[in-house]
Amino acid sequence: MAELVLKPGRERSLIRRHPWIFSGAVVKVVGDPQFGETVDVVSSSREFLAKAAYSPNSNIIGRIWTWKENEKVDPIFLQEKLLKAIESRHGTRNLFNTDAIRLVHGESDGLPGLILDQYADAFVVQFLSAGVEYWKEEIIEIIKNETRATVLYERSDMDVRELEGLPLVSGLIFGKQLPDRVSVTENGVRYLVDITHGHKTGFYIDQRDNRFLAKMITGDLEVLDCFSYTGGFSINALLGNAKSVRLVDSSIQALNNAREQILLNKLDMDKVKFIEQDVFKYLRSLRDIGTSFDLVILDPPKFAPTSAQAERAVRGYKDINLLAFKILRPGGLLMTFSCSGGVTEELFQKVVAGAALDAGVDSVILRRLHQAADHPVCLNFPEGAYLKGFLIQKRS
Ligand code: SAH
Repeated sequence: MAELVLKPGRERSLIRRHPWIFSGAVVKVVGDPQFGETVDVVSSSREFLAKAAYSPNSNIIGRIWTWKENEKVDPIFLQEKLLKAIESRHGTRNLFNTDAIRLVHGESDGLPGLILDQYADAFVVQFLSAGVEYWKEEIIEIIKNETRATVLYERSDMDVRELEGLPLVSGLIFGKQLPDRVSVTENGVRYLVDITHGHKTGFYIDQRDNRFLAKMITGDLEVLDCFSYTGGFSINALLGNAKSVRLVDSSIQALNNAREQILLNKLDMDKVKFIEQDVFKYLRSLRDIGTSFDLVILDPPKFAPTSAQAERAVRGYKDINLLAFKILRPGGLLMTFSCSGGVTEELFQKVVAGAALDAGVDSVILRRLHQAADHPVCLNFPEGAYLKGFLIQKRS
């Protein structure tokens, strides 16, 4: 078997079972492994450390499959991992209360780069690393057998594929052509998921608990939902009896979908305003006119997919949070998020604290917010905790 030989001392993260090997940690590649093929990872003194998928184009040159020397990476191995992931969702299903569930969450389920989401009867898969691309046909077969899916759609059109040197791909893998939207129910709320064109695999499944929280905290509030997408937070705010809700998004299509979902849930459209605009500009204009709100939600897109873009991302987060603090009434609430892999929770807290300071407001964190439990975080893979947020109260 081909080998990745590490530089002296670079085995440390592997001993702690971190699943990534950065190219800078590798002194040489022995043999001529194919793209995505399984290789042995060995220390500088040639001790076996792990088996990994070889990804020659990425900064992450290897992703660990197993730490056991006697374990073979083959379809049976992959099947066991997939089954374990699905069973763990069954075991924790009381945490979900929905038929829109992430069944496989990449590294955290021992399947680096593989995402499998279920929307009612439709399944959506993403192959995001060289390793899972290498085993694609086998994985599709396993999904078919283990989930009894009748429809499997591929959404491997995420930018991260480009870092692996893979083309962006999407389309039906098997089953009947999907309807325009698939209806799902989450905590009693209906959503229409556009699997073919929607973001990610169609829906922000990861925000489930935070959407529910929005419903709990809204009461008789005036709400501003920034980067609303198809209105997940707004619908919940309306269900929580919001006095009014304003959705801001630069995509008219997202706003149209939001409107459709608000109607579907029989909510009061008279309370709702749709604003098709750039959030940065819109927040500035609100500040300039002096309009204020009781609850502001900031759920922007990924400003920093990797740590390399963290600095630019920080400026973006600082900007919108500062403006949000300015337009928030005293006693008002801010739900603010970052889904940037390159920004840690600690850094995000610093940025929001800096924004509050510059806005001259006194604020407290009421709750720390994270991705839902079907997006688990492996203890030895902190990078898996990509979604972080705070529920903040502006005291004065
Ligand atoms: N809160 C949503 C998810 C937000 S996704 C939910 O829970 O479902 C991010 C959204 O921000 C997308 O809909 C995208 O169209 C929008 N967006 C990105 N940049 C923007 C900008 N500068 N101004 C306004 N909207 C923007």
